[in-house]
Amino acid sequence: MSEDNKLVQGPREGTSYPKQVVYCGNCTLPIEYCEYYPEYEKCKQWLERNLPSEFEKVKIGDDNPIEEEKKDKNVEEKE
Ligand SMILES: [Zn+2]
Repeated sequence: MSEDNKLVQGPREGTSYPKQVVYCGNCTLPIEYCEYYPEYEKCKQWLERNLPSEFEKVKIGDDNPIEEEKKDKNVEEKE
């Protein structure tokens, strides 16, 4: 059995789109590395202004509670 030695080549399904790397305007790193940057907060501000759609994705992985959410909770607790 030597068929295992065959290299699988050619395009695979699901990879037809080249992965687009988005670079951060604050730290100049790909935005997926922003969280390792000491000034991540500034990165997020830049993202929010320039790439709102990417910012939304970043926010999901953020452990810090968002102030706006706190405000909403306060409103609910008032009732
Ligand atoms: Zn950044």
